[in-house]
Amino acid sequence: MSHLAERPLKKRRLMSLLGRIALCTFGAVAILVVAGIVFFFATLYRAGAAQEGDLALVGATVLVGEGLEPHRNGTVLIREGAIVQVGDAEDVDVPPEATVLDVSGYTLMPGLIDLHVHLGSPALEADQRPGAMMFPRLVADWMRFFPGRRRALLEHGVTTVRSLGDETEWVLEFRQSIRDGELEGPNIFAAGPIFTTPGGHPVATFGVEPDSGVVRLPSTAEAARAAVRELAGGDRGVDLIKVVQERGRPEYPLEPIRLEVLRAIVSEAHRHGLPVIAHWGTLEDLEDVLDAGVDGLEHLEARGVLGGWPPQILDELVGRDMPISPTLTVMAVVIPPEILRQLQRRVGEYRAAGGRVTVGSDAGMPGVPFGAGVHRELELLVGSGLTTRDALKGATSEAAKVLRSDRIGAIANGRAADLVAVAGDPLRDITAVRSVVMVFRDGRLVVDRRRR
Ligand SMILES: [Zn+2]
Repeated sequence: MSHLAERPLKKRRLMSLLGRIALCTFGAVAILVVAGIVFFFATLYRAGAAQEGDLALVGATVLVGEGLEPHRNGTVLIREGAIVQVGDAEDVDVPPEATVLDVSGYTLMPGLIDLHVHLGSPALEADQRPGAMMFPRLVADWMRFFPGRRRALLEHGVTTVRSLGDETEWVLEFRQSIRDGELEGPNIFAAGPIFTTPGGHPVATFGVEPDSGVVRLPSTAEAARAAVRELAGGDRGVDLIKVVQERGRPEYPLEPIRLEVLRAIVSEAHRHGLPVIAHWGTLEDLEDVLDAGVDGLEHLEARGVLGGWPPQILDELVGRDMPISPTLTVMAVVIPPEILRQLQRRVGEYRAAGGRVTVGSDAGMPGVPFGAGVHRELELLVGSGLTTRDALKGATSEAAKVLRSDRIGAIANGRAADLVAVAGDPLRDITAVRSVVMVFRDGRLVVDRRRR
């Protein structure tokens, strides 16, 4: 009898133990899920309320206009996110009801523009390999449009970026979320996918899936025109087209786009009012993209003009007022210092000949940080012989021209109030751009380090 009663008792104990374990496990999982969801949304980095009323920034040295003319004790009056008056303190009428912010002691400059980023890339360290451990985090961040990257850009004073190769639908949604004031972040101008070939970069080099939204691989002129048409769509479409014309190195050749296809891409883009910018490697690649009629160039690589500019090419580039973002920052990660110095000489020669030099970091590539990459590029350009003013213009007014925008890139009436206050004088010492104290995005104060 007692023997019979013991068994159900043991069983009951076992069952209740299992029940408790199950309950605890369920509870722990539920807490983790809730914590995950809370974290997911709490760290989304949403945009704050739009700037309201009049805001006057007073007392700073203001770098005014496209030429960055310094005005000591300047005043900037901001209304509804845009600059409505700027000048010397005595020349600007500050309405009595305006909020006045004293920024004396700082230099106020236009928000920086990075013309070359990849917003959705893994962004590895220079010597890091992608590992399985980073994958869940990458996916979560991708879904949230990388709050950390948006923050890093703004914290370094970068208020506009040009995405040159990201998954098309994703980056257009990203751009829209920021435009709609849902997410905080820089203005985004997006190329969407990269036009290249199945044997070209980044398909053959980085293993980008041919049918992913990151590349387009038209093999005929007709297919090229159709692909461009599909991407062009006014406000909802891409802002520009990017082509990769790249023959690689002799020991590692890559397949370039056929000239006929290249020409079709450019002419169709122009028909839709879209500029075309080209990634190029060798001089032959450069000749192709010039023949096709592209509007801007990215990179200056050792394979191209390391030994010097062929005079007729230099003449043609300068004659066509061709903007070049040398992206020395990404080059510096992979080439020895003496080669970098040689490239810097070519950059200096291009500027000295009257060429337009603009700023792009290639952030998202291994070893190139978002935000800080722009500071590094500015320093490398000054090290190439550009004046501090020319380098800064390359990241402000000249970059805005390349983006065909008269809304950004200068502290001037009618422009967006995308502004950066830095300690020190970047026209005297370019490294002052690192000392970001305040950042305004459409008049909203998004970075404020005064309290620290
Ligand atoms: Zn790139």
